[in-house]
Amino acid sequence: MAQRNERYRGLFLHTKDTARGDRILTFLCNEGLLSLFMFGGPKNSLRSAALPFVLADIEVYRDSRRDFIKLTGANVLEVFDGIRKSFFHMQSASAASEFLIRTSAFGGEYQQALLMITLLLRELAGLDESETRLVLSAFFWDALYPLGLIPDLLRCERCGRLFSEKNSLPGGLLVGESSFLCRSCAEEYGQIRYSTSVMLPFDDKILTCLHSIPKQSYGQAVLLLKSIPSSPDIIKIIESLAEAAAEGPLQSLRILDQTFYRTQI
Ligand SMILES: [Zn+2]
Repeated sequence: MAQRNERYRGLFLHTKDTARGDRILTFLCNEGLLSLFMFGGPKNSLRSAALPFVLADIEVYRDSRRDFIKLTGANVLEVFDGIRKSFFHMQSASAASEFLIRTSAFGGEYQQALLMITLLLRELAGLDESETRLVLSAFFWDALYPLGLIPDLLRCERCGRLFSEKNSLPGGLLVGESSFLCRSCAEEYGQIRYSTSVMLPFDDKILTCLHSIPKQSYGQAVLLLKSIPSSPDIIKIIESLAEAAAEGPLQSLRILDQTFYRTQI
């Protein structure tokens, strides 16, 4: 059979309209990360449903001979209305979906990825603008586990020294890398090998916080991060690790950075 109809439940992550008014959609479901095609025209009733961050049951028509999947029906289940109230909310949601697409849903963990981004969107919808970056960090940190990219929080990955040893902290994470280094390794690396690279510092409070994020709901993680004075440093560390995992800068984060700094100064 070269052609068949299929049904999926999942989330639209990204859409792109072509010059002709057709739409290319990225859809995450338990079965995979699908690239769907939707024909243009104002009469297409699917246009209002096939938008980023809409959870839906969809029907598609697969033409396997031409390697082509067309969206033919969508029943909207959840729209996460609260995330559409501000630029910060939408950009945070976009950063999460960009990360998912770039890592192929945590390297093929589709079910876990769908569950995590659904919970993230629900949490984001109820948050204040100033809290969006915190919950996004909790999402990124949790996402590093299925990718196997969580750094060792107990010892230096270069020399093996325990972070609980005297004078081993503050340690450092080199931007673009994914290993936590003890104080002396961080100093040595900073001076010799990558003198122009940025080293992000961390202390025992930051390590304790990172250790406890995965044990909490996103709501609890936001409260935890809000209560810690060094949360801007934690966010920098987590976002640096997320960009290392995505093998390059996340555009949505950079846009958020530019806007954030402009409005804060
Ligand atoms: Zn070391």
